[in-house]
Amino acid sequence: MALLCSILGHKRDSLHAWHDSLDWRSNCVRCGTLLVKDAFTQQWRAFDREKDFSLDRKGKPTVLPDRTPPVGKCGTDGAPAPTRTTGLLDRDS
Ligand SMILES: [Zn+2]
Repeated sequence: MALLCSILGHKRDSLHAWHDSLDWRSNCVRCGTLLVKDAFTQQWRAFDREKDFSLDRKGKPTVLPDRTPPVGKCGTDGAPAPTRTTGLLDRDS
């Protein structure tokens, strides 16, 4: 456990949290300790493998869902998104 974690407590990695079908889980960004969000207190604490063991828990997904919005895609055909126009006509003269 990192010194800061022993003083301040663990700090969850909010970008890489996942739900194991029972509770939210994450890792500490400072020391890597596996964390679980306690269902009763709603506080994050270190995951206790004996106390928190359940066959219903699913493992950490290998690929977390991409939370960034698609860029430059319109619909499912991959066509580029329409661009904004100024409303002015382009004249070649
Ligand atoms: Zn920690």
